[in-house]
Amino acid sequence: MGRKCIMCDGEPEFLIKGTNDLYCKGCAEESFADLSYLEKISEQKSSIEDVDELIEQKLSE
Ligand SMILES: [Zn+2]
Repeated sequence: MGRKCIMCDGEPEFLIKGTNDLYCKGCAEESFADLSYLEKISEQKSSIEDVDELIEQKLSE
């Protein structure tokens, strides 16, 4: 199961700090005037996917 924007199912670029809510750039800019509430994830995307894989592996053990 991939991660996607909670508004439009698009490619997520931002994570709301302290939550699991993901937004693409367009929805983030529409929903939040102040993008400092958001953490940019695009550069870290591969590592986030690695974390997901690790969690899935642990669950299936
Ligand atoms: Zn979106």
